[in-house]
Amino acid sequence: MKTTMPQIAGRRADLFVGGDWRKPAAGRYFASYDPSAGAPWYEAADGDADDVDAAVGAAAAAMQDPAWRDITQTRRGDLIRRLAELIDENQESLAQLETRDNGKIIGETRAQMNYLPQYFTYFAGLADKIHGEVLPINKTGMLNFTLREPLGVVGIIAPWNSPLSILAAALAPCLAAGNAVVAKPSEHTSASTLALAELCMQAGFPAGVFNVVTGYGESAGRALARHPGIAKLAFTGGTDTGREVAAHAAANLVPCSLELGGKSPHVIFDDADPARAVNGVVAGVFAAAGQTCVAGSRCFVHARVYDDIVAQVAARARAVRIGHPADDATQLGPLALRAQREKVERYVQHGLDEGAKLAAGGGRPGIEGDGWYFQPTVFSDARNDMKIARDEIFGPVVCMIRFSDEADLIAQANDSVYGLAAGVWTRDIDRALRFARAVEAGTVWVNTYRSASFVSPAGGFKASGYGKHNGVEAMREFTRIKSVVIDHSGRDHDAFVIQLK
Ligand code: NAD
Repeated sequence: MKTTMPQIAGRRADLFVGGDWRKPAAGRYFASYDPSAGAPWYEAADGDADDVDAAVGAAAAAMQDPAWRDITQTRRGDLIRRLAELIDENQESLAQLETRDNGKIIGETRAQMNYLPQYFTYFAGLADKIHGEVLPINKTGMLNFTLREPLGVVGIIAPWNSPLSILAAALAPCLAAGNAVVAKPSEHTSASTLALAELCMQAGFPAGVFNVVTGYGESAGRALARHPGIAKLAFTGGTDTGREVAAHAAANLVPCSLELGGKSPHVIFDDADPARAVNGVVAGVFAAAGQTCVAGSRCFVHARVYDDIVAQVAARARAVRIGHPADDATQLGPLALRAQREKVERYVQHGLDEGAKLAAGGGRPGIEGDGWYFQPTVFSDARNDMKIARDEIFGPVVCMIRFSDEADLIAQANDSVYGLAAGVWTRDIDRALRFARAVEAGTVWVNTYRSASFVSPAGGFKASGYGKHNGVEAMREFTRIKSVVIDHSGRDHDAFVIQLK
């Protein structure tokens, strides 16, 4: 069955609470913009604390509903598999929705929507493979086993750059583990998450298992992060916001996972295959117009090949086809937000003020209309201590930094508050492994970049956050362990002494 959500254009979208569409308590809506036109294209409900409270209540009720609480783990997997099938059937509509909502090129949103069904299918398969253990407790006549239980109501707060893929990274393991969810998409990209709510309903999830409260971060997001009914927060977004979300989790004594920003080192040694390495740099920083958390935005190049690699990266940047994101031929679409383009422009000026040189780009391309486009930009003669190399720009800007010594390179690569991802291009396996061990990053790519899999645990170190998505690790993050100890010996014990034997 195809979703009707693409008709969201020109309409008002409501909240999804307790298995039904519902108007926001305060009756307010806000405009969501199409970045390729710089104009509003639908209105989303401006959810507030009352709406969050209703959604958390609906999710808590679902956790007590026998239809969800007592479902077998295998049947839970079946529901998630059904959701995967529905996503598969609606791939094209979902891709169109995201491209319109955040300006990401259609080739990339299609690839992401094509991958999502596999993502959910993987976790559907894990749903009945997560279990406790029987432990060899050191007491005669006693049995100790553990249960892996769902946590309860999980709040998932997502950013705008890959709305459904990032939501899915938390949602798939979270549902497979038997939790109920209140999702808060970015105020800039509500459409595809609302479409997913409709698909969850079609898949047959009991009412309240998946709820969506759209709205602003300071209102809906903060209300969700603070809500005492939340058992865990899964947050993806900026580092400053993550700090605040973690503080709310701490106040409520609940766990949280944080997928935050990055400033990833991408290294080219002089023995690397230059064509593949240059392609990796281009893919690593210009894909999604640089609006990816793992963007390889600090590119360290060995002095012996520096000039040649910079020239090649700059030539590739100049050849990038910039255009409407829904056009199949486009390689680089607009930035998702007007404010994001202004931020990128300020950073380009910082770079020039600090003495870096523009090898390519640096301004707005001559594209007709009011879309928020920006050229792929290459800074040569950048240094790791420059502001453009320290801050996450979140745009199509790469800093090309020269190095000549491996130990110094490692020190520079690690001289960042972030630790999300890293890449290295070399034909020397010893060097690749030395780098992989030494670099402070949650994911290290060797002779590839931005390669992701639902099997491979990913997540940042340092100011890039904590917690893992993907793989069995992600499932575990959405469960808690209960230890059950049974005495079947028939013995009596001293009532006043702890039983250590
Ligand atoms: P953001 O932090 O501004 O917003 C993220 C989400 O948090 C949005 O839904 C927003 O409404 C909400 N929010 C904002 N203020 C809040 C508050 N006070 N309390 C609770 N929620 C609040 O980030 P963004 O601009 O949407 O996304 C870009 C950032 O996300 C970048 O820094 C990027 O690196 C990061 N990101 C990280 C990953 C990762 O996996 N590590 C992936 C994608 C994006």
